[in-house]
Amino acid sequence: MTDKNGKKTLSGLIDAKAGLFAGVSDAIWDCAETRFDLEKSADMLISVLEKEGFAIERGVADMKDAFVATYKNGEGGPVVGFLAEYDALPGLSQESGVFERKPIREGGSGHGCGHNALGAGSLAAAVGLKDFLAASAGKTPATVKFFGCPAEESGSGKAFMARSGVFGGTDAFFTWHPMGENRVWGCSSLANYQVYFHFKGLSAHAAAAPEKGRSALDALELMSVGVNYLREHVVQEARIHYAYTNAGGMAPNVVQSDASALYFIRAPKSAQVRPIFERVVDIAKGAALMSGTAMEIEWDSACAEYIVNDALGRAMHENMRELGDTKYTDEEKACARRYVATLPEGSNKGVADLIKKSFPELEPGEVEAMASEPLQEKLFPYVMTDDALPGSTDVSDASWVAPTAQLLVGCYPTGAPSHSWQWVAFGKSPAIHKGLIYAGKVMAMTALDVIDDPELAAKAKREHLKRLNGEKYVCAIPENVKPH
Ligand SMILES: [Zn+2]
Repeated sequence: MTDKNGKKTLSGLIDAKAGLFAGVSDAIWDCAETRFDLEKSADMLISVLEKEGFAIERGVADMKDAFVATYKNGEGGPVVGFLAEYDALPGLSQESGVFERKPIREGGSGHGCGHNALGAGSLAAAVGLKDFLAASAGKTPATVKFFGCPAEESGSGKAFMARSGVFGGTDAFFTWHPMGENRVWGCSSLANYQVYFHFKGLSAHAAAAPEKGRSALDALELMSVGVNYLREHVVQEARIHYAYTNAGGMAPNVVQSDASALYFIRAPKSAQVRPIFERVVDIAKGAALMSGTAMEIEWDSACAEYIVNDALGRAMHENMRELGDTKYTDEEKACARRYVATLPEGSNKGVADLIKKSFPELEPGEVEAMASEPLQEKLFPYVMTDDALPGSTDVSDASWVAPTAQLLVGCYPTGAPSHSWQWVAFGKSPAIHKGLIYAGKVMAMTALDVIDDPELAAKAKREHLKRLNGEKYVCAIPENVKPH
């Protein structure tokens, strides 16, 4: 067993290369590549991993910028995997370090979800753990894997990776997300199907020869009406939302021959989404029949619900406790405070509610004081529940393959929402660099617990099987659908 001193050594090894990891985070921020097209960002991570002695397999799961980096320390032993993301968001181009909305390039992309730091933090964990194991060569056989996962934002890259089997053979997964506060991720998430419905009709002069036209836009609208009636007859927590991605054109005097909508169909369990999806398909078929159009389905992606793991979560929380609260300098806080000042009044209400719930011993004044801190340094108490947060993540698909733990790190200004220009502008700050190093340490330490303590690994696995309750992972995306 690695004692506290061993973990201090591990932590020191990560500190020793902190500049390298922060540099990778900033460089990925600069590229701000989106979805599956992440060539430069993947190159940057790969070049570091290669230099550090990892073997690289690139282009896995039919995605050119998805990769697996593997470091083997001796023969056998547990296989621990760090999940990394590095995709940005379209439309969020934003200058760094300024306190107003100021795109670098109109319509360009930006790192509004902190995945630049996410990738670099996972890199810190993988390289740090590798350095630690290498120093004890042979004594601790283990394999460290780093999974480069494209398109977390709406492309579900990890679902394609899970479907292709690249996650197989891993004993535990670790990941993190930069956020507003420090805590172990302690809940499930909604399973989600993302599917396009395309309708094809016949164009005609809408006044002169309407009888010759068959409107694809009518079909879309009939489908929406049908789905709106369906909402009353699905499980309470289900969510069905749609966007018209093609409404058939700008001319009312032309019967619209082509129209499309993208649907997201979500529920707490994959097994609940499937029948709702089938009913939505029936409604689309009905809409096509009513409007005399043809309907075609095009899969975009899908992800499962997240399977929590209490054994790994607790181990992770212990390591966070061991490292203590995060500490930011006055200068870092002052910078964060300037971003808080750009937010609408009351933006920290969500944080205040969470603080109140998490620290019931605090007086109302103390809750308010903590919620008005520009950066949250305190470790929040450990909570683990099966309830689903009203959102989806493709980390879920990995969590079906093996026990998974992830942490959130408070390194963004309090109350600033993700996917905002404030997050992009703050993305290269020293606070973000601190956050990713902290995350790297926690993940590496928890992975070391799994390597060192066969009982923890076995306990996490037993719990995982129990939570799956005999179900096997089935990727919802049909086999013939490729990432696009
Ligand atoms: Zn994200």
